[in-house]
Amino acid sequence: GVVTRFAPSPTGFLHIGGARTALFNWLYAKHTGGRFLLRIEDTDRARSTDAAIAAILDGLQWLGLDWEGEPVFQFARAERHKEVAYRLLESGNAYRCYSTPEELEAYRAEADAARKALSDAKKASASAEEIARLEAALAAKPRVFSSPYRDGKTPPAADAPFVIRLKAPREGETVVEDEVQGRVRWANKDLDDMVLLRSDGTPTYMLAVVVDDHDMGITHVIRGDDHLTNAARQKQIYNAMGWDVPTFAHIPLIHGPDGAKLSKRHGALGVDAYRAMGYLPDAMRNYLARLGWGHGDEEIFTTAQAADWFDLDAIGRSPSRFDFAKLENLNGVYIRNTPDAELVRYIRQVLPTLEDADYFQARANEGTWRQLEAAMPGLKERAKTIKELVQSAEYLVATLPPIEARGDLNASNSTISGVTIVADRVPIQPDEKAAKVLSPEARKHLAALKERFAALETWDAASIEAATRTYAEETGAKLGNIAQPLRAAATGRTVSPPVFDVLAVLGRDEALARIADQAA
Ligand code: GLU
Repeated sequence: GVVTRFAPSPTGFLHIGGARTALFNWLYAKHTGGRFLLRIEDTDRARSTDAAIAAILDGLQWLGLDWEGEPVFQFARAERHKEVAYRLLESGNAYRCYSTPEELEAYRAEADAARKALSDAKKASASAEEIARLEAALAAKPRVFSSPYRDGKTPPAADAPFVIRLKAPREGETVVEDEVQGRVRWANKDLDDMVLLRSDGTPTYMLAVVVDDHDMGITHVIRGDDHLTNAARQKQIYNAMGWDVPTFAHIPLIHGPDGAKLSKRHGALGVDAYRAMGYLPDAMRNYLARLGWGHGDEEIFTTAQAADWFDLDAIGRSPSRFDFAKLENLNGVYIRNTPDAELVRYIRQVLPTLEDADYFQARANEGTWRQLEAAMPGLKERAKTIKELVQSAEYLVATLPPIEARGDLNASNSTISGVTIVADRVPIQPDEKAAKVLSPEARKHLAALKERFAALETWDAASIEAATRTYAEETGAKLGNIAQPLRAAATGRTVSPPVFDVLAVLGRDEALARIADQAA
């Protein structure tokens, strides 16, 4: 069966490109009934951090990309990598290289000098014989490094430090049959004898990836096309070990809307930033799936459909473009299609990590969640992100004191030395525009409306609206001149969901209290 993996290096957060790679591997495993594994490539000890590991696991969990079993930590497998390097040594596919950095430098300098001599001679229109001679001299110094120790040069000393290099093929070519890029070929003379094991006995990245993918039984490697050349080098290691080469699929990177490399402003952010901006994981999955893959003209689909349809042959060859406006619109669709109770559950869960949600978070109490659900039909109609949605729900908590000022909610005694430190309710401070709406005349209307509302038998939007209309007709006031002050009193703002819905959601007591706060 198919086994895929996501193999992030924990040197930074889980960025959007990595999330897309993880999603493709996950979808392909789902599609084939295979397994999706996670490997943390933490061999770069200086740059790997626990915070980055936590962010990667957290980001994958938020996106719902569950992996099978425990993550594999690459660094912990260093002994196994070393063992493989020594097996290659024993089988004659690798050699000990004792060249010092100075020797390597001299070797490269010689090749550079030969190249320069040839190009100078050409510029100076040297004779054909001279050019042929210089060409032959350059050919004898391959551009890439291959150590004289490969050819049996004697080690400088019994205890001299060495690295282990692959005895890479020099003739012919290395070919990768890539599911996305097609057949890609490298002339072997251009590929040097790569280091497998450093002189301190630690494995190189190239060796570790191959050994881990082999040992984990990975059948398909789906990753960014910045790893395409690595595939050629990795294939040489597979061949040297006589191991099966996995199927490769190198997917084009994500670009910005302008076609240039994805910048921060254009979306090159961590997955946590998308959660903070208020994108739903379902919408993210849908959007990311469309970055570089497609199923006909389908733009909106469930994860189950994506898994059903996903295949490697429908991955495009050109870079996809990240488009914030498209993501926002899609997110809006997902918000509207998500049941109210589910949205409330989600908001409760992500509120601490949501951007610009401090006001709401500091004030929300148990009752707020019921109100939020009741208000949801009006709120979700306009919101493109959860952040916007929560901000438009701030009116719900506008008269609750923030947590720091509330003290211990469970304490029966909320006074210290006779001074009340806890207010139950704080009147709304209308913003500048709302304050203008609340003219002396408007405040008189509010006082009269308060009496009428208090007498209502049922407290719902229709009854409140009917009472308001009757009052407007009787007094000859324009409905707008009454509805706006009501809105200002109920929310402290001049823009909100429909005001009668707002009053209904607040409940009779709170709505009347807010009107009373502003009434003349
Ligand atoms: N650790 C590599 C990265 O984060 C991925 C290696 C691979 O997928 O083979 O770019």
